[in-house]
Amino acid sequence: MSVDLTLLDKPVQFLKGVGPRRAESLQRMGLVTARDVLYHVPRRYDDASTVEAIGALQVGMDATVVGRIRTKGVIPTRARLRIFQAIIEDDTGRITCAWPGQPWLDRKLREGDTILVTGPVKFFHGNQLHPREFTVLSRDGETGPGAGAVGSGGTIFVSYPASEDVPQWVLRRILDRNLDDLLKLAGDEEYLPEPERDRLGLRDLPGALRSLHRPESVADAERGRQRLAFDELFFLQLVQAQIRHRQTVERPGVGHARSNEWVRPLHDALPFSLTGAQARVLREISADMTSPHRMNRMLQGDVGAGKTLVALFAMLIAAEGGWQAVLMAPTEILAEQHARKIRELVAPLGLDVVLLTGSLGASERRDALARLASGEALLTVGTHALIQEGVEFARLGLSVVDEQHRFGVRQRMALADRDPPPDVLIMSATPIPRSLALTLYGELDLSTLDELPPGRTPVRTLLKGPAGRHEVHEFVRREVEKGHQAYIVYPLVESSDKVDLRAATEEAEHLAEVVFPEYRVEVLHGQMPGEGKDAVMRAFLAGEVQILVATTVIEVGIDVPNASIMVIEHAERFGLSQLHQLRGRVGRGALESYCVLVAEPGEGAAERLKVFRDTADGFAIARADLRIRGQGDLFGSQQSGRDPLLRFADLARDEDLLLRAQALARRVVENDPNLTRSEHERVRAVLEARHAHRLKLYEVG
Ligand code: ADP
Ligand code: MG
Repeated sequence: MSVDLTLLDKPVQFLKGVGPRRAESLQRMGLVTARDVLYHVPRRYDDASTVEAIGALQVGMDATVVGRIRTKGVIPTRARLRIFQAIIEDDTGRITCAWPGQPWLDRKLREGDTILVTGPVKFFHGNQLHPREFTVLSRDGETGPGAGAVGSGGTIFVSYPASEDVPQWVLRRILDRNLDDLLKLAGDEEYLPEPERDRLGLRDLPGALRSLHRPESVADAERGRQRLAFDELFFLQLVQAQIRHRQTVERPGVGHARSNEWVRPLHDALPFSLTGAQARVLREISADMTSPHRMNRMLQGDVGAGKTLVALFAMLIAAEGGWQAVLMAPTEILAEQHARKIRELVAPLGLDVVLLTGSLGASERRDALARLASGEALLTVGTHALIQEGVEFARLGLSVVDEQHRFGVRQRMALADRDPPPDVLIMSATPIPRSLALTLYGELDLSTLDELPPGRTPVRTLLKGPAGRHEVHEFVRREVEKGHQAYIVYPLVESSDKVDLRAATEEAEHLAEVVFPEYRVEVLHGQMPGEGKDAVMRAFLAGEVQILVATTVIEVGIDVPNASIMVIEHAERFGLSQLHQLRGRVGRGALESYCVLVAEPGEGAAERLKVFRDTADGFAIARADLRIRGQGDLFGSQQSGRDPLLRFADLARDEDLLLRAQALARRVVENDPNLTRSEHERVRAVLEARHAHRLKLYEVG
């Protein structure tokens, strides 16, 4: 098969009806190739069945109508406001459409244009429609498909993102003239055989693209979108499946043998039983570790879900066979905290934990390094110090990385890139929706702790307006009087935002000197040097500081069980997931705990904050966050720009589609890692012609 898949990548100028000038305008709006035009995603669909007959319009309606412009013009008013007006008509009647303050529309619209308008009907010298939105469906009497007359049943009006110099009707006309040719070319890129499509419940590619531009119904457009979304997700997963294959299957890892010498006694000694989720995740990890393949797994779980304990069991599985296991944390405080907890748990087993951080004295460091190099240290906890030069392990069998997002990819891999390759477990306390995790970390296997240990008292969350601030401070005082500690958090969206920083530090001074003079109040912010931050954090941990005013997100995972209240100022400026992370700092002990959000009323944030107040489950909050904020900037520069990673797929609702895409991608790669078999020839060709360059960046990860 030698099909030329590059034809769709010809410049737009090769399209019918596109000359050099128009080509330039199209390019300016990001439509550079024929493919860009073919994959230009409509901005909305209007179903003719919801289009009103103009004759039936009544004051008070919010209506969508389609009509042809009979006359138009700009009307000056006494208030010096210039109003553009057009009278439009359909078979049933006429109505005036008025656009106050938009006289320039007079140059955009012509008599005879057929337009679709949406907006409220008002009474003003007779009925008037005030369009919120409008689309020129056709010009010069052309009524191609997709711009049909009202009442022709089943017609869908398609509106595209347009630009100043490329209006709707131009895009529409270009598609009218070229769609059939483009669909033929798209047919050459169909990589899913029919039985496979049927199994997946997906349309064929040209059919899907036709439905995108000329849908028979809104449901038809949605089915088209699903196929195109599947393609995006599939090729992304394909690249990730290849990475996964290289990192796991192709590199035989350490096959751990379980003796239960330590796992069993630790399990039996715990004063509680594992949650169902912990038990399930441990089975997943154990299966990976005992298989000859290398484990490359992510463990997601809310703060307090018991990840550290799961990690410890995994470390003991390694240690039982004489392999070394290491846990790397992003800060010294966290590393020390882990080391302390783990020591407590393994001391009865006669095991020791080596702690390696940057602040060890020279002789301690030498001693620790010697124990790692000899293989005597079975359990090691540390910071970045673990991946510096001169650190050798005799038999590294498992690398655990805590708070993985705090490390770069290279740092994360530094512990893993050895021979034989150790199993890798990376942990994240930032719950994200499954669809997002599978997309961002498709090369990893995913384990989720979606259940908190029983008996936790949920943190009580309260919403207050700025007027209630005094009351909030009194609340804090009462908690501190009981001997508890408090966090007060200010938003600092950009760490370089000087205004915010000054506001927060001034506020901290005010709190320290005026509001709480009897207590020790300290500030923690992102521009402090590392040692300064550490010193403040340690004083708070030791209970020497009662009130911590923080402008940075306080260390994820930091455990101060005596802190019983957190106040979050300007809560409306935080994302839901961020708020959830913050709230996780309190309620870590037996104390009844509180989270008080101080927010400006209004600002559209009330709804969001109520969701937060009433939801304790981090995953549910993350899903709400994705739904509300969208996936826009999730992939950084890869998501925006001319050729975003995902424009059809919507991770808030396409989880099912994504699971199907991942399953297929992994199956294909498992059977044919390099896609050299003839049945995968087209998959490979499309990957190379279309997706490889876009996914390059991804591959580094
Ligand atoms: P994470 O690392 O996910 O934030 P940890 O592993 O630090 O959570 O666990 C938080 C606390 O809960 C610890 O004190 C731990 O001993 C305790 N814990 C862990 N698992 C359970 C369980 N199944 N039942 C009760 N308490 C648990
Ligand atoms: Mg933890």
